[in-house]
Amino acid sequence: MFELAKQRLASVFKYIEVDEEVISRLSVAKRAIIASIPVRMDNGELKIFTGYRVQYDDTRGPTKGGIRYHPRVNLDEVTSLSFWMTVKCAVAGLPFGGAKGGVTVNPKELSKLELERLSRGYIRAFADVLGEARDIPAPDVYTNSTIMGWMADEYSTISRRQVPEMITGKPLHLGGSQGRESATGQGALYTLEEYAKRHQWNISQVTIAIQGFGNAGYHFARLASRMGFRVLAVSDSKGAIYSSSGLNVEDVYRFKQEEKKLASVYCDGSVCNMLDYEEISNEDLLALKVDVLVLGALENQVTQLNADKVQAVTILEIANGPVTPQADEILEARGIQVIPDVLANSGGVVVSYFEWVQNKSGFYWEAPEVREKLHNIMRRESNVVFDLANHHQCTLRTAAYIHGIERLAGAIDQRGNKKYFST
Ligand code: GLU
Repeated sequence: MFELAKQRLASVFKYIEVDEEVISRLSVAKRAIIASIPVRMDNGELKIFTGYRVQYDDTRGPTKGGIRYHPRVNLDEVTSLSFWMTVKCAVAGLPFGGAKGGVTVNPKELSKLELERLSRGYIRAFADVLGEARDIPAPDVYTNSTIMGWMADEYSTISRRQVPEMITGKPLHLGGSQGRESATGQGALYTLEEYAKRHQWNISQVTIAIQGFGNAGYHFARLASRMGFRVLAVSDSKGAIYSSSGLNVEDVYRFKQEEKKLASVYCDGSVCNMLDYEEISNEDLLALKVDVLVLGALENQVTQLNADKVQAVTILEIANGPVTPQADEILEARGIQVIPDVLANSGGVVVSYFEWVQNKSGFYWEAPEVREKLHNIMRRESNVVFDLANHHQCTLRTAAYIHGIERLAGAIDQRGNKKYFST
């Protein structure tokens, strides 16, 4: 996966000149750590989990990136995700490098107390390399604000001082920021809005299908339908639902909360009469004829095996790495534009940056201020990327990488390179 992720880097060097040392530096992670995390389970047994933290590059600032709990977490995946975080923070112009962490675990099988012990154990295992000026974690797949709160508390206990700025995505009452919860979805919507303006789309006629109904997918769906976009389909790990006349996202969310899966929204006695939705498969969802296919689940969802089935006009990546490089080529040949993850899902880390700033200053902003600042960054950086794509006649992904790599290269060069020292 990491080798594939790096192919995106290579595509940029056709368009811009970058010092060789920049390429060497950006081709490897600065530091990768694997630790075992022993957890006492509720039945008294001791279970050892494997935890990862990869700090990819810190030239532009302390490294930043989420911690994911998932059964398929491994070093290759975490390294790829940390590389994408590096590019993402540069694209958004944040003073951060990139990192990512994870634990190989199915968190749905743990009790709440086991989850707390695992989360505190993660911080104990990695405390030496984390910190507000070193490496700042945040939520990712299957981690949330509650877990960030436990982690902040554990770190403060170890450090014997309050350091809320060592982690972001915390609950509001523990130093979290207004708007962090919905930031990824909100940011992606701001990017889509700019894209829609450029293509002179009439929002009320734009149809959307969304893969993934987690933090990013749900908030995106909610905000997009509130704005007037027509959300026709959503999916989760257990299935998908579709309605040609559009879904009521809030109803879908409420029923999912009650039943823990979307299928129950589809048919559950009286609910069936209320919600006239059709149950479809995840593969059907990816192949729906809609204007925008939003990918908000996991990586490697659109691959060379199914890219020819996509019928959407545009793909919006709100997960990290949902389209593979081989699929990119097929989609490009078919004229399907991909608004890439490193731009489209950067709203999460942008508001994480705001949280870090607020924690450091001890002064907290109101929700409208957070939204306005997020909007400004997403509008500005999206338009830079769209302009670069026009200028170089390249894909939006390549344009986003050009933008990010130029900022990274600037920082790496200014620390000194061979040319600099030999003249
Ligand atoms: N996990 C999120 C991402 O992939 C957020 C990272 C952060 O806020 O540091 O962008």
